[in-house]
Amino acid sequence: MSTTWYVLGAGSLGTLWATRLARAGLPVRLILRDRERLASYQAGPGLTLVEQGHAHTYPIIGETPDNPEPIQRLLVACKAYDALAAVKQLAPRLTHDAELILLQNGLGSQDAVAAQLPQARCIFASSTEGAFRESDWRVVFAGHGYTWLGDAGQPAPPFWLDDLQAAGIPHEWSTDILTRLWRKLALNCAINPLTVLHQCRNGELQTHHCEVATLCLELAELLEYCGQPAAAQDLQTEVERVIQATAANYSSMHQDVANARRTEISYLLGYACRAATRHQLTLPHLQQLQARLVNYLNARGLPSD
Ligand code: NAP
Repeated sequence: MSTTWYVLGAGSLGTLWATRLARAGLPVRLILRDRERLASYQAGPGLTLVEQGHAHTYPIIGETPDNPEPIQRLLVACKAYDALAAVKQLAPRLTHDAELILLQNGLGSQDAVAAQLPQARCIFASSTEGAFRESDWRVVFAGHGYTWLGDAGQPAPPFWLDDLQAAGIPHEWSTDILTRLWRKLALNCAINPLTVLHQCRNGELQTHHCEVATLCLELAELLEYCGQPAAAQDLQTEVERVIQATAANYSSMHQDVANARRTEISYLLGYACRAATRHQLTLPHLQQLQARLVNYLNARGLPSD
């Protein structure tokens, strides 16, 4: 009998994972915020995934956090700023050998969850898959990609990677997951805040070449100080490559601000600036970028934490 995949958060990534696992015949349960959200979910036929224009609905069972059944495997698919509080609620349900897969972007939320649950195995993930919510309980698979999973404290891969294989979730076990997360954070810091401040698509940053280059230099210095030299290698070249390859796209932070949604700034640029302060490192452009972004968000009534 397979272990049940409990999916915490039925948003974009949670739905992308839950529906593919369910399609492979694996046991999946959704944990929704509260009774109201559960009632809304139960009023419909289930979770719908739209792939290449084709929609399929999966009648996955939903529940609230206060359900009593024990949880051995938990996929945390909330935003970084919600992850800790959402997981805390489930602490009494986690078994002694529980494993958590943390899908959050940026850094900081994973350590906060791991510190809260010292007995659990916390696996960090970094994904280049893309999905967005068309409406409640209906998600569009927008960009194929890859998910790297890893555990900095325990290099052996878990046996349930076979489930991901069966579900057709492209993945790889990574022995340097922190390097991957730092690299992604640095790319994000060099691109996303500027797209918000200049109100532009990624490609338009080609006209702000000097600003991008200066940020890359400071970010590379930070990565070296944080013991992540591999994540610092050729950073500027990769940032420029990403800007070019995604020229027509709006960054996720730009989309959040445009839709008046809270950003994950505190786990991206905010995390980088706090790390610099911890190392007593002066990175004037990065710190100025954060101040400008915080002002910009505050002026629009959006949280800056
Ligand atoms: P999302 O669509 O906003 O989904 C987050 C879900 O978490 C929402 O359904 C929300 O519930 C739920 N949630 C929050 N607190 C909860 C709680 N206490 N109990 C139960 N559910 C709770 O976010 P997302 O786009 O999937 O992003 C999740 C993470 O993946 C982020 O860190 C993001 O940066 C990262 N990521 C996303 C993508 C992507 O393409 N979407 C790609 C790579 C990485 P409600 O529906 O009730 O609000």
